[in-house]
Amino acid sequence: MTTQITPLIAGNWKMNGISASLGEVRRLAEMLATGEAPRCTIAICPPATLLSQLNAIAAPSGIVIGGQDCHPMPSGAHTGDISAHMLADAGAQCVIVGHSERRARYGETDDLVRGKAVAAMTAGLIPIICVGETEAERQSGRAEEVVSSQLANSVPEQIGQLGIVVAYEPVWAIGTGVTPTSDDIAQMHGTIRRLLTERYGETGARTRILYGGSMKPANAREILAIENVNGGLIGGASLLANDFHAIISAV
Ligand code: PEP
Repeated sequence: MTTQITPLIAGNWKMNGISASLGEVRRLAEMLATGEAPRCTIAICPPATLLSQLNAIAAPSGIVIGGQDCHPMPSGAHTGDISAHMLADAGAQCVIVGHSERRARYGETDDLVRGKAVAAMTAGLIPIICVGETEAERQSGRAEEVVSSQLANSVPEQIGQLGIVVAYEPVWAIGTGVTPTSDDIAQMHGTIRRLLTERYGETGARTRILYGGSMKPANAREILAIENVNGGLIGGASLLANDFHAIISAV
């Protein structure tokens, strides 16, 4: 892990969670209050329906809340969509954009993801921009080419004061229990770091690069120790306070 960057452990609840699930956040807040001070920033990205309620519970513990997606426009006739301004108004400080589930199921292109990232920054949110190759792309030896291209086209030309976060999430590792080898993670994160630094200089060198894909208490310590891994984007294991706390403690 690059020591001068404060790691970020971000939970992505996806389409999981109703008000009854907030008990897990209360438990997490209790664990954080009684244990060692966390050595990372903690974020939870719940469904939008829970943002305000979750913020009221999480904010006193320093837990940041975020959205899972946003529309590129600030408002308008976009039924069912949520703008970055609305997320900010509900208390969000960050938003995931370009998650592979949205890229694959809703045909989100790099251009659209870049537009969402710009909208997030305009609203004062930090975009967590996801990139990652499919299994077929890795097997055909194209993983670096795919991720480099996503990075080049999904990350905006200008990065504001708050910065951005990049999440490397190999699609085949999400929700499968399978993870890349440490060497493969190190190689991809090294490539992302090089590309960010070439393009953005010092800002790129300081940008957090998260790993995401089946990170669990059992493998978190090893993954988080890899060079240029500045935290994790956690799906399934963020839903239970015990598991999420164990990952936070692994930093
Ligand atoms: C994700 O969807 O961002 C993710 C990392 O999921 P999981 O941890 O469940 O693999």
